[in-house]
Amino acid sequence: MSLFQTETARCPYCSGTIAFEVVYSVNADRRPDLREQILDGSFQRESCAGCGKAMRMQPNFAYVDAGRGQWILVEPASGLATWPELEMAARETFAIGYGEGASRLARDIGRTLVPRVTFGWAALREKLVCQAAGLDDVTLECTKMLMLRGLGEVPLADGVDLRLVEATANELTFVWLRSSDEVVAETLTVPRKLYAGVASEPAAWAELRGPLAAGLYVDMNRLLVPAEGEA
Ligand SMILES: [Zn+2]
Repeated sequence: MSLFQTETARCPYCSGTIAFEVVYSVNADRRPDLREQILDGSFQRESCAGCGKAMRMQPNFAYVDAGRGQWILVEPASGLATWPELEMAARETFAIGYGEGASRLARDIGRTLVPRVTFGWAALREKLVCQAAGLDDVTLECTKMLMLRGLGEVPLADGVDLRLVEATANELTFVWLRSSDEVVAETLTVPRKLYAGVASEPAAWAELRGPLAAGLYVDMNRLLVPAEGEA
């Protein structure tokens, strides 16, 4: 089921109030239109009646798409600093919904789902683009690490992430963006062969694949963003 609740938010531009149907849960099997809205960037975006400017709620909901085998706990971009705790919480939430204690039907569905946790809209959208393009997300993160090695100057900064935005038969397009407001700093297109090369040499990438796939947070940030308290 997809769940919404009406809440009001303060407009950051004119201090007026904006009514939001805030989402708590998205079932993409029953509401494919919501998946489309996530992909086109319109989901949870509203315009202020006072000043007309648009704002977007940071995401905080559970996303399930049984048809595509995806379950994602979507956290706000600001949650990244505490990713180890939120990863643990995601694991527990998934276990409650689809694990030992769940109904047989839920357990059967759970076995077909790949659980993940993401932070911010762009990271969620990336998981959907990745799945739709038939890409493995661990291999994709390794590919990003390879790209980082090849780039001289990268806009690496707190809250700036490299996200896959489009995949064609021959090319992968990434953007560097600020995850809190999705402002894009730079766009990069690489041949899809770069990904295929990483995919064809799992042994060469084992040292990175292991840590990247160690939990539900499959993102190169788990190697780059130290857990709070360890920094
Ligand atoms: Zn306003």
